[in-house]
Amino acid sequence: MTEPVFRYHPDPLATGSAMGVQHTCSVCGQLRQVRHQGPIYGRQPDSLCLHCIHSGEASPALGVVACATDGSHTLDMPAQFSDALDVPDEVPHHVVEEITRRTPGFTGWQQQSWLYHCGDGCAFLGPAGYHDVQPHPDALNMLRVSHRQYGWSPEETEQFLHRLDRNADPTAYLFQCLHCGTHLASWDIG
Ligand SMILES: [Zn+2]
Ligand SMILES: [Zn+2]
Repeated sequence: MTEPVFRYHPDPLATGSAMGVQHTCSVCGQLRQVRHQGPIYGRQPDSLCLHCIHSGEASPALGVVACATDGSHTLDMPAQFSDALDVPDEVPHHVVEEITRRTPGFTGWQQQSWLYHCGDGCAFLGPAGYHDVQPHPDALNMLRVSHRQYGWSPEETEQFLHRLDRNADPTAYLFQCLHCGTHLASWDIG
């Protein structure tokens, strides 16, 4: 059976958010060949397949029940696979819902948020080192601006960019706009 295709995460095997291994999915009970490896903000299943994320079945199945702050009733909190932080106002709610509930997220050194451009979510291309980001001046510049805002000198920022490593901190996270093709990147440290 072919694996589902995610608009905002085109190759979860390449990004490390999924792994090719035979397993029985805890949600659908099917024998599957690709297993989800990304974060789950909800109940932790033994094993989760990508089909259940894509169909939307996994999010409510792994949700938790929380008490309303005034204690009057309980709320069903569907599981999320990434956080919705700093979402631009023009991004429609259904896009945020698709990214957080029906798209595999990715693991960073700290909690990760998605990037947005042209009023839509971007495609996540993967964790990136300097040589992965270097061909994309737009993404490199975004990292430069974001690093400089912490008060680093230009020399320190260039040294930091050269230290970026896909597998060790600091790590960049590379995205591409689905509309204009611009590359974007965020970064974090352990
Ligand atoms: Zn499943
Ligand atoms: Zn764009």
